[in-house]
Amino acid sequence: MRAAGGDPGEAGGVMVRANAKVNLWLRVKGRRRDGYHDIETIFHGIGLADDLWIRPVDTSEVVLEVEFETRAQGPLPAPADNLATRAANELAARHGRPPGVAITILKRIPIGGGMGGGSADAAATLVALNRLWELRRPRPELAELGARLGSDVPYCLLGGSALATGRGEVLSPIAAPRPLWFVLGLSPEPLLTRDVYAGSRASRQTRQKGDVGELIAALGVGDVAGIGARLHNGLEPAIFRARPAVQAAKQAVLQAGATGACVSGSGPTVFGLARDEADARALATRLEPLFFRVVVASSRPEGVEWLEPSDRSARGPGATRGARGGL
Ligand code: ATP
Repeated sequence: MRAAGGDPGEAGGVMVRANAKVNLWLRVKGRRRDGYHDIETIFHGIGLADDLWIRPVDTSEVVLEVEFETRAQGPLPAPADNLATRAANELAARHGRPPGVAITILKRIPIGGGMGGGSADAAATLVALNRLWELRRPRPELAELGARLGSDVPYCLLGGSALATGRGEVLSPIAAPRPLWFVLGLSPEPLLTRDVYAGSRASRQTRQKGDVGELIAALGVGDVAGIGARLHNGLEPAIFRARPAVQAAKQAVLQAGATGACVSGSGPTVFGLARDEADARALATRLEPLFFRVVVASSRPEGVEWLEPSDRSARGPGATRGARGGL
């Protein structure tokens, strides 16, 4: 990671890794008076991640720079509206100080991919600045501030496996001792969460496969086949209608031999559950010709991880498999 202000090995500051998530389960329970939807979801953190380098600079504002490790992804908002910038500004305002930091994001998580990349960057910024500014705020306080930036931010601060209700901000950690291996089929075209939720009102959700408790039990004992059989996303009909190629993508992942497949969040990323690492890599080889980008990733127990500057190239690019497919 190189940036206007030097590189992480030369200058001060902190480096953090913001892990993406997939939703192993997602049920929309209804629309609320405030316009949000009540959901029941299982978030699961994975090792596809953005890296953030944050250091003090001699300005009163946040200076944001975003680098992309792979080919161009969906559009980002103006720097002032980026969730990392907004997180820094909110935390600074709450503590009555000027933000005065430069943030460099090395982006690997697809934008608008249903993998919570923006929320992960916001969570990582809060954790990093809590240390850099020596604020010593407890996680619940960061989560309360983060929830105002996005419903997924409290989960991204927690990481691992968690059942979420409310807008997604009421969290209960789930025991999932066995690391899972996934193959992710990425699309170059983002899907807007709000459009998918609007479409979900018009269409019926798919019948759920059993109860969320069965999936939680399967996670608890590391029953990969049981987990694969119970993956569920009630937004799929709305997603498939908005983007029929996502349905074809899910079918392709199942036909390639995944133990189970599902769309993550509001899509369009489709993930397949593999039996183990070797199976995930074999699935990726089969799927590469079909997808824009294929990534192999496994479970991560934490949402935000601390990095040493020397770690900065680890575990990100190696997992990405380039491809030219049209799904
Ligand atoms: P979710 O799964 O939480 O619904 P998502 O993965 O579909 O989210 P994100 O990549 O988090 O989507 O981005 C959602 C929106 O937030 C996009 O419109 C994007 O432009 C904006 N955004 C703001 N800051 C960021 C950021 N740091 N990274 C990615 N997107 C950001």
